[in-house]
Amino acid sequence: MSEPVTGPAEDTEIASWVRGLGIPGLVDLHVHFLPKPVLDKVWAYFDRASEHYGTEWPVHYRLPEAERIEKLREFGVRGFAPLVYPHKPEMAAWLSEWAREFADRVPEAVPTCTIYPEPGVADYVRQAIESGARAAKAHVQVGAYDPRDPLLSKAWGLLAEAGIPVIVHCGHGPIPGAHTGMDVFGEVLSAHPRLTAVLAHAGMPDYAGALELVHRYPNVHLDTTMVGTPFTERMMALPADWPARIADCAGRIVLGTDFPNIPYDYATQLRAIADWAARDDRLGERFLHSVLYEAPARLLAFTG
Ligand SMILES: [Zn+2]
Repeated sequence: MSEPVTGPAEDTEIASWVRGLGIPGLVDLHVHFLPKPVLDKVWAYFDRASEHYGTEWPVHYRLPEAERIEKLREFGVRGFAPLVYPHKPEMAAWLSEWAREFADRVPEAVPTCTIYPEPGVADYVRQAIESGARAAKAHVQVGAYDPRDPLLSKAWGLLAEAGIPVIVHCGHGPIPGAHTGMDVFGEVLSAHPRLTAVLAHAGMPDYAGALELVHRYPNVHLDTTMVGTPFTERMMALPADWPARIADCAGRIVLGTDFPNIPYDYATQLRAIADWAARDDRLGERFLHSVLYEAPARLLAFTG
């Protein structure tokens, strides 16, 4: 029997912890980079988090872009998906273009794109795929749109056909949106059953509903973003038997963090994941290899 796994106590220990696991590094499928004026607005929103969410949300990595990239490198993040998302029409195409340029200048970043229900969405998604996008983001809560909108059906189809993972925030957390819910997104999946969907935040707070979609559709995954951290547990706790519940679909759980917009440090997320690994014999270190590197690397077609 190997020693039970424990996570890194703080950020400065992450890189050596990862090396100790024997994986080449971390692949984080859910981080955010945005054009500065957009990110400033996002941070201003988190500054008023108690109004919006009923809790303080001090953004832990409120740093200039170059320093944020450097942080990820220090943690041993070898690859990541910088996700962009619009909150209104006529934003998604230029955000996707910005994300592609970001990936051109940051070797660890894969090119990503985003969608919004508007005329032309199928065209800019096709263009993004042709220019090499390897992940897409759909933010149903912030975008306040219906993912079943007929304007989106061609875009879902293109992404499904290309096998590009779409990280979908469609859960009711931290606050419900007009069209959030696993049942609503379940209808998109029933129309596009081969879609490689990554349910952000493991569907928080409807973890059971998200797992049901994983079992029903072969290409549905869950990301770990904010899941199981003390901050989230206070508001949207995991079921007590979570490690046992994910044991039979462990290969479809992938690392995501929401870096840099998290109210705690990066090591905290890794400790939450390590805790699941320690609590079920079927998980253990083998699970950490998969969730922290192999599964997200496979989804992002990451070979670096
Ligand atoms: Zn996010």
